[in-house]
Amino acid sequence: MSDAAMPATASGADRIDRLRALLGTSAILGPAELEGRDAGWDAANFNAFALARPSSTAAVARLLAWCADEGIVVVPQGGRTGLVGGAVSSPDALICDLGGLAAIEEIDAETGIAVVQAGITLAALQQATNAIGLDPGIDLAARGSATIGGMVSTNAGGIMAFRAGVMRHRVLGLEVVLPDGRIFSDMTRVIKTSAGYDLKHLFIGAEGTLGVVTRVVLKLEPVVAARATALVAIADAQMGLAIVRHLQTRLPGRLRAAEIMWRTFVAATGAALGFDVSQSPFDAPCVLGLEIAGEDFDEAASALENGLAEIYDELDIEGCVVATSLQQAERLWSVRERTEILYRLHPRAPSFDVSVAGGAIDVYLSRTLADLRLIDPEIEPYVFGHLADGNLHIVLNLPGPLDEAMQEDVERAIYQDLAAMGGSLSAEHGIGLTKRAAFERYADPVKQQLTAAIKNLLDPTGICNPGKILDTKLVL
Ligand SMILES: Cc1cc2nc3c(=O)[nH]c(=O)nc-3n(C[C@H](O)[C@H](O)[C@H](O)COP(=O)(O)OP(=O)(O)OC[C@H]3O[C@@H](n4cnc5c(N)ncnc54)[C@H](O)[C@@H]3O)c2cc1C
Repeated sequence: MSDAAMPATASGADRIDRLRALLGTSAILGPAELEGRDAGWDAANFNAFALARPSSTAAVARLLAWCADEGIVVVPQGGRTGLVGGAVSSPDALICDLGGLAAIEEIDAETGIAVVQAGITLAALQQATNAIGLDPGIDLAARGSATIGGMVSTNAGGIMAFRAGVMRHRVLGLEVVLPDGRIFSDMTRVIKTSAGYDLKHLFIGAEGTLGVVTRVVLKLEPVVAARATALVAIADAQMGLAIVRHLQTRLPGRLRAAEIMWRTFVAATGAALGFDVSQSPFDAPCVLGLEIAGEDFDEAASALENGLAEIYDELDIEGCVVATSLQQAERLWSVRERTEILYRLHPRAPSFDVSVAGGAIDVYLSRTLADLRLIDPEIEPYVFGHLADGNLHIVLNLPGPLDEAMQEDVERAIYQDLAAMGGSLSAEHGIGLTKRAAFERYADPVKQQLTAAIKNLLDPTGICNPGKILDTKLVL
């Protein structure tokens, strides 16, 4: 925590005392207790004057009602793995940390649903559901820290979105504490509901700007018995999509992941992880990471091998490695998952998270890369993503942040034709702070007006995560 954030004044200390009286001493961390703790993906997450950790919905409601009365800004935080600054706090803000609401209330194996508190991590839920043959049906590399409440609030996507949907499709019911302390409760356990506006969807992807998510009902999927992994050398996204379509037809319902990595990305992460990146498949223009479900490891591996063999010559596949053990599979996946390597090479590297309809990926990318090189011939971005749903992550090989003019030029190169192509300027990370200017420039103007109107309606005093998604001056 920076010195600027210290509540050196009597009123700062007084607020902390009153918060302790409201929620209990151990539920409030002041600056001294926050000092030295891991602030997560963004150091500015812990700039607040204090952190409150309520342990029930009622306590969150008391906290928000108190903050509304006092005019204190609240920043909800889960695992602090968000990549767009949505959890960043300022010295006048109070963090509402959901770590105290991390229970699994129920897993109903018969109907395949889980009722959880928002602060549970994805990994903890995966472990509990996998033990009884079920799975949350959504997965991402930050699973150990990312919470279900945070994933709801960013409408997270991840590796399996192309088959089981994004968070919005996993949520059946939701409980949210509104900025004035009222509790919106829609803990529906059924997929069908057309009883008026389905308001829970307003809070999914709202990034904590409309209230604090406290409990969630999630739909579960049957767990798979075993998985096999391959890395395949491919020429471009088009070829990767042909492989995906072939495997989806030959092995219906069994493809679990189809991740694409362009050469610069593989060269950086692969080399850092000790792979010989001058060898196939790592030296190809692109590498496709595949995962297939099966009855057991050997059956899954041979199904994957046979499926690839059927199209190997026809598609002119340049090389392929199928993991022969679970350990090897994990090691191969680390090339895709260890994205923090990029940020070690280029601290705070500007990154973008777009989606493009599958068939247009190669055209979009070659136009975008050419435009980026016109801005600076040295720009050679790392590109990777979730091929089967068209979600590309683009990380620049430059330290961030960029100066304002260059940021604007880079955003133009990346976002200019996305809307016309039917894509999205934020596929799964949200808008937060870092994509706010782009949202203002490139999102539909009527969408922006409606967003401001809804924010005003639910949070008229602007205490809930202000400045995220929309600039406060556009809202109040
Ligand atoms: C290595 C790595 C890999 C990642 N891979 C993916 C990926 O494949 N797909 C993907 O979609 N994302 C990915 N992410 C991004 C991140 O993990 C997700 O955005 C995740 O959903 C954030 O969860 P969190 O609990 O960490 O939320 P936080 O970072 O704590 O918060 C994120 C936002 O949600 C709000 N928020 C948090 N909890 C609540 C709540 N209970 N109520 C209301 N608002 C709340 C915060 O105010 C903030 O705006 C990745 C991140 C990392 C670091």
